[in-house]
Amino acid sequence: MLITTLHGPVSTPVFMPVGTAAAVKSLSRQDLEQVGAQIILANNYHLYLRPGSHNIKRLGGIHKFMNWPHPILTDSGGFQIQSLHPKITNEGAEFKSHIDGSTHFLTPETATQSQLDIGSDIIMAFDHSIPKNASYEYAKEAMSRTHLWLLRCIKTWKQHTSTLKLLHSPALYGIIQGGEFPDLLRESAKFVVAQDLPGIAIGGAVIGSNPRQTSETIAAVRDLLPKNLPLYAMGVGTRPSDLINVFKAGANMCDCVAPTRLARAGLLYNSESKNERIDISKSQFKLDQNPVDSQCDCTTCRDYTRAYLHHLFKSRELTYYRLASIHNLRFTFKTVSIFTQTQAV
Ligand SMILES: [Zn+2]
Repeated sequence: MLITTLHGPVSTPVFMPVGTAAAVKSLSRQDLEQVGAQIILANNYHLYLRPGSHNIKRLGGIHKFMNWPHPILTDSGGFQIQSLHPKITNEGAEFKSHIDGSTHFLTPETATQSQLDIGSDIIMAFDHSIPKNASYEYAKEAMSRTHLWLLRCIKTWKQHTSTLKLLHSPALYGIIQGGEFPDLLRESAKFVVAQDLPGIAIGGAVIGSNPRQTSETIAAVRDLLPKNLPLYAMGVGTRPSDLINVFKAGANMCDCVAPTRLARAGLLYNSESKNERIDISKSQFKLDQNPVDSQCDCTTCRDYTRAYLHHLFKSRELTYYRLASIHNLRFTFKTVSIFTQTQAV
């Protein structure tokens, strides 16, 4: 599937590296292009607080601001706010900033407007993300609220897009929320599909944390979703095999902080290791002259040894973070591309 955006096409299945605050940590635009990133994700919650969505707009939009001329998707902030113990009502979510403790109130209207100001290509509806182990009653209430909020997001999005030619309008994706309950997931899927949006996402804690549960959750709704629309599984990709499983289950897009976050913690993907990664901090790598992964074609594996990366990690050299992130992201993209090729045969 080819997704068209204001900043070029995205071919699926696609993994999106996370650049929360308009930066994929330690990597430049050139690094991202070289590892194979087509589209990156930025976070509305973080950018709304700092530097401020209105300031990004004044600076010409996020693409110009961060010098990334390719597609960008912004998460609405619903998921991030959930971890701040917000006060949620049907009107919106009140939360305290993780930066300075100041109180903020995001509504479907302001969360949508903020993403429009940021200038991303794909904006996400503001949702009430359902946490792990939520009761049926909680999940049902959050689902209904997510639906009400979706209608309000659509209204704000349409007001904005009606002033622009269609070619200059960002896409809005609705989010399915139903927790771990198949009947709620199906009800939510039907509601989101009925809104006739350019893309559909599935979110909440049931997506991403456990590969089997993620696949089961997608399977519960896949037959209800139009085959010609992208399905975005939010927050999937801790292990490279998670990507294969989620794409096999029927998703076309996913994102995860894991490849870069694990890299910074010393955990580097490896195709021969039982748990798909090695811990470069271990002393067994001190004199190891092999690359991180013998099959990987990234510049880190081409030019540097495990012994050098072990040394950089132990010394907390800044160079380590870049080299490690390049490897984990390239390994991730290679996994997706091998899967795509096997599907095409
Ligand atoms: Zn590599």
